[in-house]
Amino acid sequence: MRPERLNPLFAMADTLRGVGPRLEKPLARLGLKRVKDVAYHLPDRFVERRRVKVLRDAKAGDHIIVQLTVVEHRASAGRAPFRVVARDEAGDMVSLTYFGRASHGARKALPVGERREVAGRLEEYGQSLQIVHPDHVSPIAPVPVAACATDGSEAANVLQGADLLCEPVYPLTDGLTNHRMQSLVAQAMQPAPPLPEWIEPGLMQKQGWSSWRDALEEAHRSGRKEARNRLAYDELLASALALMLVRADNRRRRGPALIGTGTLRGRLQLPFSLTGAQQRSIREIEGDLAQQHPMLRLLQGDVGSGKTVVALNAMLIAVEAGGQAALLAPTEILARQHHQTLCELAQGTGVEIAILTGRDKGRAREAILMGLLDGSIDIIVGTHAIFQDTVNYRNLVLVVVDEQHRFGVGQRLSLTRKARQTAHCLAMTATPIPRTLTLAQYGEMEVSRLDELPPGRKAIDTRVVALDRLDDVAAGLVRHVEAGGQAYWVCPMVHENESADLAAAEARFATLREMLGDAVALVHGQLRPEAKDAAMARFVAGQAKVLVATTVIEVGVNVPNASLMIIEQAERFGLAQLHQLRGRVGRGAEQSVCLLLRGDTLSATARDRLALMRETQDGFRLAEEDLRLRGAGELLGTRQSGDTPFRVATPEQISAMIAIAHDDARLLIDRDGGLQGPRGEAARTLLYLFERDYGVQLLRGG
Ligand code: ADP
Ligand code: MG
Repeated sequence: MRPERLNPLFAMADTLRGVGPRLEKPLARLGLKRVKDVAYHLPDRFVERRRVKVLRDAKAGDHIIVQLTVVEHRASAGRAPFRVVARDEAGDMVSLTYFGRASHGARKALPVGERREVAGRLEEYGQSLQIVHPDHVSPIAPVPVAACATDGSEAANVLQGADLLCEPVYPLTDGLTNHRMQSLVAQAMQPAPPLPEWIEPGLMQKQGWSSWRDALEEAHRSGRKEARNRLAYDELLASALALMLVRADNRRRRGPALIGTGTLRGRLQLPFSLTGAQQRSIREIEGDLAQQHPMLRLLQGDVGSGKTVVALNAMLIAVEAGGQAALLAPTEILARQHHQTLCELAQGTGVEIAILTGRDKGRAREAILMGLLDGSIDIIVGTHAIFQDTVNYRNLVLVVVDEQHRFGVGQRLSLTRKARQTAHCLAMTATPIPRTLTLAQYGEMEVSRLDELPPGRKAIDTRVVALDRLDDVAAGLVRHVEAGGQAYWVCPMVHENESADLAAAEARFATLREMLGDAVALVHGQLRPEAKDAAMARFVAGQAKVLVATTVIEVGVNVPNASLMIIEQAERFGLAQLHQLRGRVGRGAEQSVCLLLRGDTLSATARDRLALMRETQDGFRLAEEDLRLRGAGELLGTRQSGDTPFRVATPEQISAMIAIAHDDARLLIDRDGGLQGPRGEAARTLLYLFERDYGVQLLRGG
């Protein structure tokens, strides 16, 4: 059971004051489900805001707070924004400017004749001054003052005084203002109790860390590195502990020792010979399967490195040993693709391979359930549906999980427990991650790496193209389609400007449609799943020639006829993401091309990223470089979701501290394996706090 003192933090976020139905969606988009998530929603940066008496004391570009009297409202006409004209104590005027729906709130918040305190960035607009979408507007009241220490330096710490304020700027999404976020965070912090210390005292002292509660408060108040590092460390320690508990538990468990006879594998007639990396991986898996305890192995290999045939070999060993194997895919489409590929590859082995997804109903489903129960089906491919309670196996001995990062450790555990004994587990991921991160993410598993591509792959011709050559690019796309090819056109989509991004993607879709008609399909994250699947299916079937997409196509879709990938605003993507996207092409016989369209203002790091994309196609190298470039300090606030299993720790913090966390976790478990002592108790709290409680459950069960 979760320790009681954590309960307030686990209350749903909508129990916070002011969270009504209108805020639910924006909060959900940011992943803020519970009070604790809000408390952990840390600022991207801080702005120094100056309190000024009159506008003349500030210059354009300054973030200010000033007291103003509202003079008049100028309604928006046509495309013109809504303006509130206000004057300061000296009589100077400033226009508070609101676009679109934002004007509704402004009317109420700024009644004519009233005095208000307004915070925002002062700008010059022609001859006059304006503040566009003020960060907040409030009745006159004293405001608490904090020191700004965005870089953690001593000099910044001494900056104090009534006229300098330090304000956190939070990651936001449509429908949430920074001001509102500040108040939600403040509320969410209130029930945060002091917690027992789980970090080793020596380490605390050495790093200059404060207690959990103090660190959390400080992280919202200033950018002091120590506070954020401590919070990140907590998360890393929780993860390391949980993974170690899983490993220890796994060693205690008995699994079916599977010794393959080789008969089925002997009948495989592959149209190619296996690469060295594939052979090595299969040997490693074979070794694991022969053990008395369940395999926990990750097969890591770039897109196209040939994971499927490795998985097939593993599954054939399971069948040779008299068992059944299941392959779990994250989506319906991927399940179907896997099923088809496996059937083709395994032709002639006589192995029975079936598919089961949420779509299969009635008779067909019944037949498959029967086959699983009586053992006539050897291998089942499917989505989560294959692990529903109504699905029973005669003898499930191996579970293969594709695109592993979509499933958490806890989820995977529950899947392998479906078997009578714990089944062996092979996880596969196409996301090459740096070695340091492998430990953090898959620390409980052994790793096989497919670091060698099958021979004869043509390199993808990657070019960086300035956006002002869009017309040429579009013309090239038309020629490509007319010649019978298919193409992806990817538009960026991030939380911060979701609606603008969505509009851009839709606009692009519309233009391409004008040129190519029905042959263009659109998928984005806000479509209903059925609509998304339908559009994808049209593209897979070749009915649609161009797929305009936000990044939702990342995961494993295989359309060999698509040999052109166009990525718009490529500078806004991280290297790992660009690499994943590019991997969608280069799967057929055709020479593939990837065009990275870039805007005209590029940061140095963005330029480096794009250059690297041109230079190499080695996913492992790109992953290492990605990490290094982030270390250079960019990308705060544009973190790619699904990157790592961590919400608090950044990739840099992970590389810097994961090894320490692992050593610390090991020491703790060596000394107090049942987590019974005071620090052990604190560590249990930590596991619950970060929802790694499957670790605690293993302790109990153990
Ligand atoms: P992944 O799942 O790792 O992205 P796949 O298993 O889908 O890659 O393999 C990609 C393609 O390469 C498939 O068409 C597959 O048949 C082919 N392939 C796999 N192994 C080899 C090999 N050793 N030699 C040549 N082609 C291979
Ligand atoms: Mg694959």
